[in-house]
Amino acid sequence: MGIPGRRAWPRKPQSLQLRVAGSSRRPPAPRLSFPGSPAARGDTMSASRAALWPLAYLAAILLPLALALLAGRPGRPFAVELSAAVGMAGFSLLLLEFVLSGRYQRISADVGMDAVMRFHQAMAWVLLVLLLIHPYLYALFPRPTGLVDGLPAAPPADSAVGGASGMVAWILLAALITLSAVRDDLPVRYETWRLSHGFGALLVAVLAAAHTILSGHHAAAPALAGFWIVATALAALTLLRAYVLKPLLLRRRPWRIRDVRALAPGIHELRLTPDGHAGLPYQAGQFVWLRFQDRLPGLTEHPFSLASSPAEGPELRFLIKANGDFTGGIGDLPEGRRALVDGPYGRFGAALEDSEASGFLLIAGGVGLAPMLGLLHTLAAAGETRPVRLVVANADAREIVLDKELQGLAERLDLRVTRVVDDPDRPDGALPGPVDTALLAECLTGAERARWQAFVCAPPGMIDAVEGMLEALGLPASRVHAERFRYRYGLASPSARRNLRLQAVVLALVLAAVAAFALAVG
Ligand SMILES: Cc1cc2nc3c(=O)[nH]c(=O)nc-3n(C[C@H](O)[C@H](O)[C@H](O)COP(=O)(O)OP(=O)(O)OC[C@H]3O[C@@H](n4cnc5c(N)ncnc54)[C@H](O)[C@@H]3O)c2cc1C
Repeated sequence: MGIPGRRAWPRKPQSLQLRVAGSSRRPPAPRLSFPGSPAARGDTMSASRAALWPLAYLAAILLPLALALLAGRPGRPFAVELSAAVGMAGFSLLLLEFVLSGRYQRISADVGMDAVMRFHQAMAWVLLVLLLIHPYLYALFPRPTGLVDGLPAAPPADSAVGGASGMVAWILLAALITLSAVRDDLPVRYETWRLSHGFGALLVAVLAAAHTILSGHHAAAPALAGFWIVATALAALTLLRAYVLKPLLLRRRPWRIRDVRALAPGIHELRLTPDGHAGLPYQAGQFVWLRFQDRLPGLTEHPFSLASSPAEGPELRFLIKANGDFTGGIGDLPEGRRALVDGPYGRFGAALEDSEASGFLLIAGGVGLAPMLGLLHTLAAAGETRPVRLVVANADAREIVLDKELQGLAERLDLRVTRVVDDPDRPDGALPGPVDTALLAECLTGAERARWQAFVCAPPGMIDAVEGMLEALGLPASRVHAERFRYRYGLASPSARRNLRLQAVVLALVLAAVAAFALAVG
């Protein structure tokens, strides 16, 4: 049953649609990878690697505990060893936060940037709790006195510098994480917050390392002291790599602005062309960090989804909505201006490779249309014959862009485009917002609804709501892919619940290892 008033653009002749709809006679779906793209290098491999990252993460947390066991320092009472183990696990988690936020293409291509940033934020709270209770554990349990094997049974208080550095790190860490949680309400520029967050975290790590090495019982073993020094240096290197080394290297592969075009009030299309190199190998739907000046390495760059498809050639295309000082100035950029592009990142479009999918549902909110354009052009270039449904939601009619281009794509694909506009002053054929379950149900046609792949790029609240609707319609969470333009996460959506489960498992394993360590050593 159709939805009254829906705008559906020209489709293929009826005979072709009928042929495509019969799943048993569906022609084999083409593989949607292109030479040089990460997909072409084997996305199935990246999917299996994705499962290994949590294991590598756990191993990295447990490594110092294992080294402490192997170092064989004399054991102390259980409570003291428990506190020491909690401190070591918390410090490992702190150092791993640098890796999670360190923009590693491999990790973001395997796991997705959304999952990485979500995990980074959640683990910050876990490590904060661990490190906050670390000193209190000594007080909670009866305080041991005397000597064990000639060593003080109580926590070492012999290094004033060690104690003070631990306390300052403890206070700074609490401030850093609390400020991040309320960042949107702070009267500071994003760049200022980002700089203070990075260097604040580095300061906490250095102070925590000083505390661990000067006051830690187990870190008196050279192997463990060496481990903490190397791990802290690697964390610092991660920052240096992301903000200084990488931007310097990118200067060797510059890009030039070929065109900036206003599409609607506050929305621009930007095209970049490679300057003296072959371009960027990427997968449709990925994003890059973009910068137009070299003055401050790494600080003035911003993430943008690629609205182009690798099938269209080396030029990169973006859809940018004015949202602040950087995005507000896009329209003033002159043709020929040098640009630096760091990427690609993410795996938003990786599921286009699913040759078993019944169809592809694309849901865009506002400028969330950007990555969808890359996906649509990739599907069209590959001669995709399965149904593709695009839902584009806008606050008002002035934000509607690229109608003609979508009509052209509808000629090449079994594509139906549905416009949803919140403002009562809607153009003909557009549905009233917000996007609802009935509309999505109507898009997911056919008996094999659970085998569609869905892609959502919209404001965070809309992503959470749409994920819930798709779950209610029986689409497994593994088939719903989201790209967020803001790293803000609710707790109620299916993907949030999935991430919470993973975090709970990691936390439970860490706590079990900490307790086992204290029992074994204490
Ligand atoms: C993966 C991803 C893809 C994106 N793709 C697009 C796109 O295709 N088109 C588009 O118009 N917008 C996109 N954005 C949003 C865009 O990056 C921000 O609107 C832009 O960075 C805002 O910068 P500003 O200086 O104009 O505004 P500001 O006032 O500085 O920032 C406004 C808000 O944008 C976010 N932001 C700002 N700078 C950064 C940064 N360096 N890194 C992460 N978040 C930042 C913060 O939440 C901030 O509160 C994307 C964001 C992400 C994370």
